[in-house]
Amino acid sequence: MLDKITKLSHEFGTPEYVKGGGGNSSVKDKATLWIKPSGTTLAELTKDLFVAIDRSKIARLYAVKPPEDPAAREALIKDMMMESMYPYSSGRPSVETPLHDSFNAIFVVHTHPPLVNGMTCAKNGAEVCKKLFPEALWVDYIDPGYTLSIIVRNKLKEFEIRHGHEPEMVFIENHGVFVAGNTVESVRKTYKTIMSRLRKEYKKDKVSATLETGLAPSPAAKDEMGNLLKRLMGIEASAVCASGWFKVSQGPLSTDHVVFMKSYPLMVEPSTKTVAAFKSANGYFPRVISVSGAVFTTGVNEKNAELAMQFAKDGALVEQLAEAFGGVKYMSEKSKTFLENWEVEAYRQKVALGQA
Ligand SMILES: [Zn+2]
Repeated sequence: MLDKITKLSHEFGTPEYVKGGGGNSSVKDKATLWIKPSGTTLAELTKDLFVAIDRSKIARLYAVKPPEDPAAREALIKDMMMESMYPYSSGRPSVETPLHDSFNAIFVVHTHPPLVNGMTCAKNGAEVCKKLFPEALWVDYIDPGYTLSIIVRNKLKEFEIRHGHEPEMVFIENHGVFVAGNTVESVRKTYKTIMSRLRKEYKKDKVSATLETGLAPSPAAKDEMGNLLKRLMGIEASAVCASGWFKVSQGPLSTDHVVFMKSYPLMVEPSTKTVAAFKSANGYFPRVISVSGAVFTTGVNEKNAELAMQFAKDGALVEQLAEAFGGVKYMSEKSKTFLENWEVEAYRQKVALGQA
């Protein structure tokens, strides 16, 4: 089973499905759930990395009344998940562990494909989903972590009562998709169905499924901008990535986008004045800078800046695709604020793990 889920994780660990450490996968039997640890990528998973969870212990989590305060709630849930790990296991289980556990299906693969998020981040997403995927469960945006897990768990149970079986595909607004199946073949088949129906729809609406970018700036122009950004932002712009121009996303799209590129880009030429104004308005330095003819991303190191660029491009593609379904729909101010605070912890973990 671990060999199978490892292979499946690699298949869906490509940029078509996830960027950075996004997405997760699991396999289960009656007693145990093996899940991808937090901070590892699907592509780099090996079978010894899976975290083994005692399902009878994780079940206790569904019964507790969690604290109102989001930080206290997430801390409690994290502790309970850690306690559910078998003593021989190491790593930190994904925050979505209870959600994976809630599916009856043996294999669960969760990803954030831009092709899917063109629908989940669109104004008409719910409506389109109903039409294109009548067999699926659609879930309106929910803050990630414990809340997401519990609400989706309840919706899964409701679906099962109504339809006599659980859904094989669950679309989550401004987030991505969960695919569940009892065999690896059924997971593959469901993903194929999802991607091909969406591709067909984008084609019909004449929306390109690839992101075109302008000519990359010259090395001299990149260096010049790099030096300027370093001067304006210090260590947060230790590394800079450059790309030819593309239309960047201009609001909070999904959890991963907010974590890796923040909610808003800087849309004017960077200067002492514009960067300071941006920081006082948003509380952080810009990670994505869109100027005439180019897009730059910043980071505390090369990997960090590179990830911000990957997500900037992913977000731009998502917005382009969302045009097929009524245009982009950003997350609410409240959800964005939750993420920006929650992200601190997630981000620290990623840094600690060398993933940022
Ligand atoms: Zn996710």
